[in-house]
Amino acid sequence: MAKTKKVGITGRYGTRYGSRIRKRAKVIEEAMKAPQKCPVCETKVAKRISTGIWECKKCGAKYTGGSYKQATQPGLESQRIATRVQRELIEKSKE
Ligand SMILES: [Zn+2]
Repeated sequence: MAKTKKVGITGRYGTRYGSRIRKRAKVIEEAMKAPQKCPVCETKVAKRISTGIWECKKCGAKYTGGSYKQATQPGLESQRIATRVQRELIEKSKE
């Protein structure tokens, strides 16, 4: 088989789908397959097991995230909002 030095992970697509699409898929797929930092034990061994589902290979923690990357900008934003609302509710209950 020919070397896939340039095409990398998208070499499995052969000549199909067009070069521009394969180049864009390469960026996403390489980030998707790369080990991520586990939010529980902080080691860099978490992997994507399905769409939006990530699992740490060390501590076994399973958690949700982005479909193709562990954290997305809108995801982080909604997490911030949820944390703030939760804090506000706790403060309100103290009054
Ligand atoms: Zn972990």
